[in-house]
Amino acid sequence: MPAPTPATHVMNTYGRLPFALSHGRGCRVWDTEGREYLDALAGIAVSTLGHGHPKLVPALQDQVSKLIHCSNYYQMPLQEQLAAALCEVSGLSSVFFCNSGLEANEGAIKIARKYGHDRGIERPEIIVYEAAFHGRSIATLSATGNPKVQQGFEPLVEGFVRVPLNDIGAVREVAHRNPNVVAVFLEVIQGEGGINPTRAEYLRELRRLCDEKHWLLMLDEVQCGMGRTGKWFAHQWAGIVPDVMPMAKGLASGVPVGAIVVGPKARDVFGPGNHGTTFGGNPLAMRAGIETMRIVAEDRLIDNAAAVGERIRSGLQREWSGVKGVVEIRGQGLMLGIELDRPCGDLLLRAAKAGLLISVTAERVIRLLPPLIMTPAEGDEVVRILAPLVRDFLAGR
Ligand SMILES: *Cc1c(COP(=O)(O)O)cnc(C)c1O
Repeated sequence: MPAPTPATHVMNTYGRLPFALSHGRGCRVWDTEGREYLDALAGIAVSTLGHGHPKLVPALQDQVSKLIHCSNYYQMPLQEQLAAALCEVSGLSSVFFCNSGLEANEGAIKIARKYGHDRGIERPEIIVYEAAFHGRSIATLSATGNPKVQQGFEPLVEGFVRVPLNDIGAVREVAHRNPNVVAVFLEVIQGEGGINPTRAEYLRELRRLCDEKHWLLMLDEVQCGMGRTGKWFAHQWAGIVPDVMPMAKGLASGVPVGAIVVGPKARDVFGPGNHGTTFGGNPLAMRAGIETMRIVAEDRLIDNAAAVGERIRSGLQREWSGVKGVVEIRGQGLMLGIELDRPCGDLLLRAAKAGLLISVTAERVIRLLPPLIMTPAEGDEVVRILAPLVRDFLAGR
């Protein structure tokens, strides 16, 4: 018998949990039945300042009443302000604003191709990675290293060469035989792929190789950026600077925004007419980004992310020492992945029933991406709820 058609007019693209959230405050959210949850997901690394932040809300109300949108036909002082703030914390020099992660990555791919054409390379190619996730447009799903994301949408966009993560020999091998490479494109910590960190020494070697070969080093900080790992950007742990940095998720604490932040090698690749977007850089999103960055700095939330993340990690490690089935706890700051030895999608609903919002990615990896405002006490609460849940799950209870 065919499954009954659900009574919904929304296209069926997500497996959704059976409750609806109605409002939130700080790291707490409530559903329409009044049940309370501790938010250890932040809408997938988006709600940097949690919910209903007392400094962000009035700023957004003020901006909504002044100007939400006006078009890039005009001067945009708020874009200038947010771009300057991003350049200051990244050491980069120029920004293009868009509306989402995939758009930032799509723009980065366009920059790489045009950079190649400008240098006389007719068929530019980009090195991408196994288990990478860069979005769901045709070009970004082609760059993504997950067959499930690609299946049914062939033909894929060409011009990508795939290598395994953290294997510099594989990149050198491509460099040796392929004169059309113009860029290397990767997440500093793979998010959807299972919280897989890139080694610092590997990033430094990539930086050297890109300098030597005149390639662009393009780092997708859409998920790991914006202070989450304990630095503004995850690549800063390796002491390097990329040429192109797409970012998005946490930048405006929930108002949709994306940005391509670039350095001197890439800042003049696009000229008027090469790229654009109607909504990109609108005053509401810019104001949200400016205020988010200001509050993150003022309230020292990056240090907080490092400290509370470490507290959760060590707490979980302590709770699960000797527990069979916990393979590894990975990640940095408030971007943590716990790999189990079996698929664990069931934990989503179990955790929600216990009052905790989490995610499961790559089938076997529990993913924690809490708001950067999470307090140490709330971090302890995450451990207190999650630890017995996973123990019971692994024991088949
Ligand atoms: C979420 C994500 C994207 C896609 O962002 P959207 O806003 O969903 O288009 C791209 N890259 C990474 C690393 C992501 O985590």
